[in-house]
Amino acid sequence: MKSRARTIGAAAALLLFAGTRGALAQPVPTTVDGLIGAAKNAAGLEWPGTFLRLCIPPPAAPAPATTTGARGGARGTPPAPPARETWYGEPAKVADNLYFLGTKIHNAWAIVGNGGIIILEALFDYAAQDEIFGGMRKLNLDSRKVKYVILSHAHADHDGGARLLQDEIPGVHLVYGAADWDAVDKSTNHAGGKPKRDMVGTDGMKISVGDASVQIVTMPGHTPGTLSFLFEVRDNGKPLRIAYVGGTAIPFNADAAYYDGYIASSKKMAKAAADFGATALMSNHTEFDNGFFKAHTAANRKPGEANPFDAGAAAVAGYFAVVQDCTTAARIRATGK
Ligand SMILES: [Zn+2]
Repeated sequence: MKSRARTIGAAAALLLFAGTRGALAQPVPTTVDGLIGAAKNAAGLEWPGTFLRLCIPPPAAPAPATTTGARGGARGTPPAPPARETWYGEPAKVADNLYFLGTKIHNAWAIVGNGGIIILEALFDYAAQDEIFGGMRKLNLDSRKVKYVILSHAHADHDGGARLLQDEIPGVHLVYGAADWDAVDKSTNHAGGKPKRDMVGTDGMKISVGDASVQIVTMPGHTPGTLSFLFEVRDNGKPLRIAYVGGTAIPFNADAAYYDGYIASSKKMAKAAADFGATALMSNHTEFDNGFFKAHTAANRKPGEANPFDAGAAAVAGYFAVVQDCTTAARIRATGK
């Protein structure tokens, strides 16, 4: 009876403080069911895709050769590009100086400063020309002003277009984390062509184009060299602070060290986001942040309407709670503790 009351108390507390557990040192549940329940509460309606992808293991299936996962993961022979109508998405102006250049599935962004443009992510090789160059043309952004292309990590769904951008934009700098540059250098069949080694993004580095900048937070886990970002844009003339997570999905068959490293990185980024005062969270897959839908909702606002990405600091903290609870549940499932 006594222990049952305690359980109910803990669950109620989790419901109340799901978004701010880190700050309040809330106890983390210790069972898979408890963790999934806590993650579901923290996800709410803001992060259902993140909850689904990280907390619910996919049914066992024979490995298909043509899924996004296969193309986005290991560097094998890439399957043929999917039909354009399955992925092409229109570009969108998200805030005064922030633009969406992604597909319906994968996000890429342009941050515009008075000294140039920073692009985040380069999409699959087949999408980069239409979405990034074509999108910038449609939005009246001059691609020759792009000074940096920052890749969150070296998987084909985010860096397949990196070589194209490197080749087509004079003087542009390509930025990866150190370990992911090593992966690029070792790759033998890089979809879209192998990027030439350039700038290494390091923890705390600030990359600026005049009055806009991106600060790098290294976040090893999804890949050893994953980079996450903190940046501020203007929205209706007011500052909007964004935490951007560069590595999201987890495998369900890893070892304890993998999960512990991933969780440590998530905690590091959660703290950095809170210290930065981020009230918006973005990522590189629409699955995790509803990026495509929110971007177009933002672009079609009436004057004075709030930005749909501006979910508040508690929701940003809630995202990291979802990730950490689901990853802990994955560790328990895979390792028994
Ligand atoms: Zn990836």
